[in-house]
Amino acid sequence: MGRKLVAGNWKMNGTNADLKEIEALGIAWAAPRVDIVICPPATLVSRMAFALGGQPIRVGGQDCHAEESGAHTGDISAEMLKDAGARYVIVGHSERRADHHETDEMVRAKAEAAHKAGLTAIICLGESLEQREAGETLDVVGRQLAASLPDGATASNTVVAYEPIWAIGTGKVPSVEQIAEVHGALRAGLAERFAGEADGIRLLYGGSVKPDNAAEIFGVENVDGALVGGASLKSTDFSPIVSALE
Ligand code: PGA
Repeated sequence: MGRKLVAGNWKMNGTNADLKEIEALGIAWAAPRVDIVICPPATLVSRMAFALGGQPIRVGGQDCHAEESGAHTGDISAEMLKDAGARYVIVGHSERRADHHETDEMVRAKAEAAHKAGLTAIICLGESLEQREAGETLDVVGRQLAASLPDGATASNTVVAYEPIWAIGTGKVPSVEQIAEVHGALRAGLAERFAGEADGIRLLYGGSVKPDNAAEIFGVENVDGALVGGASLKSTDFSPIVSALE
């Protein structure tokens, strides 16, 4: 098992003024024992990477197009993110699956593009409340895992984030038993397909991770870190989450 990982997803939040949060993180985490990534909106990727300079905190994009370049107004390629200083990119976040009708096949193509560009893809999946209540969770995430991960996934180029849709931005968190069940199933799914890489592919939990629940979530088997939305915007919320994982 490699280093654990905490990734912050700023979503559609943040302007230049918010780079002060990154400065504070840089000071707090000059030599972290876990990997730390912040995924700001695309407008801030380059500036954030520059602000971090040689510091160990990495920058990521929140999405990329599956193609390298071309006539896709408004889109950004994985190469462009790499060029701007990103090392990671989130693909298949449930908000993009919902708002932009992204399918597992599209997510897989984006992850392949990320790998080709030399980025680590943080591939998101998770069930809706209706699916959870219908007892379909393991089927749903199993299907998403199989269809969204490219064949070339390795421990260094791929991270999987389990984010139950009903837990995102709601303050609702699954029980530790529910998280353990899904993460165990995901690990087994990875082992079936990726053999030697499976244990090294990090499995993040995401959905209402906060300073006061992080330690409990990080104690769950097969949880290798977190993808944090709202609580990643302020260094005073994000730092205690990093501390809980260290
Ligand atoms: P949240 O978002 O931490 O605000 O629930 C998590 C995510 O969507 O990645």
